[in-house]
Amino acid sequence: MCALFPASKPRRAEERARALDVPRLLPTFPLRRRVPVKPLSGEGPRARFCAWIGFFRAAVRAASSLIPSARGAPAVDMVGFAVPAEVSVLLLDIEGTTTPIAFVKDTLFSYIKDNIREYLRAHWEEEECQEDVGLLRKQAEEDAHMDGVVPIPLETRDGEEEVERIIQAVIDNVHWQMSLDRKTTALKQLQGHIWRAAYENGRLKGEFFDDVVPAVRKWREAGMKVYIYSSGSVEAQKLFFGNSTEGDICELFDGHFDTKIGPKVDSESYQRIAASIGCSTSNILFLTDVTREADAAEEVDMHVAIVVRPGNAGLTDDEKSYYRLITSFNELFLPSST
Ligand SMILES: [Mg+2]
Repeated sequence: MCALFPASKPRRAEERARALDVPRLLPTFPLRRRVPVKPLSGEGPRARFCAWIGFFRAAVRAASSLIPSARGAPAVDMVGFAVPAEVSVLLLDIEGTTTPIAFVKDTLFSYIKDNIREYLRAHWEEEECQEDVGLLRKQAEEDAHMDGVVPIPLETRDGEEEVERIIQAVIDNVHWQMSLDRKTTALKQLQGHIWRAAYENGRLKGEFFDDVVPAVRKWREAGMKVYIYSSGSVEAQKLFFGNSTEGDICELFDGHFDTKIGPKVDSESYQRIAASIGCSTSNILFLTDVTREADAAEEVDMHVAIVVRPGNAGLTDDEKSYYRLITSFNELFLPSST
């Protein structure tokens, strides 16, 4: 059963805490679960909210012990909420929100490791592939001071043996960079080209949680705009949605943003996104699995909800209390459907 939040969300932590009154807390807070109030560290909306919530929880526990009807009240899961009426845009993260983190960590990265040799052999004579190798060679020169770096020699002779020697160096360099989880342009560029070939020949398909595509279709039918904001490049996003287990679903999205607009943990990025869409930040609801991203968006008055999916990083009790949580896109209730 879903506990619906108030339709209009008090965005500032103090306003939200002020808006919570005891009669509403009694049926919605899990009275049977005693959550320790943690000492506060740092400042900011979440810390202030936690101070308020700790006070209210203590008050509710005390009150519930005095009110016979409240003692047996069932705990209600705090999931799902009514989307505020001012929201007309949904902004979606991908990894951990629309798609299992394992798809990126396991499927995509494993594909590179398993298929890089075949890709390099097939595309070695192409200009784009030689540019990628040149960029990796330059990066290796810059990395010369690092432990374990694998240099990529120049081709000095003709023949298959020489090509295989260079290919092996490229493979070893890529494996070394991936083992360190590096995000160099050289590495990302070659990875992007390998994934593009895999999507185009059908060996890779974008994956989503089951609720995602039906919910996005429903939102669009209700007149909402839907955008993507991911650290993967816009090109990679379009390949992902254009070659998915659900077919080409690019038409479901009004636009894409990547970190060219700014880091996902920087508030200004969310202001730029709103300006680019042509709306106010308060007209946007951002769905993500990462609380730091949610904080950045909320800082500039964007509505946020944390998406809790299998395989995502766990949340602290304070985070569970502070953020609006959903475990499925079906737990969002548009104004027209509530
Ligand atoms: Mg994510």
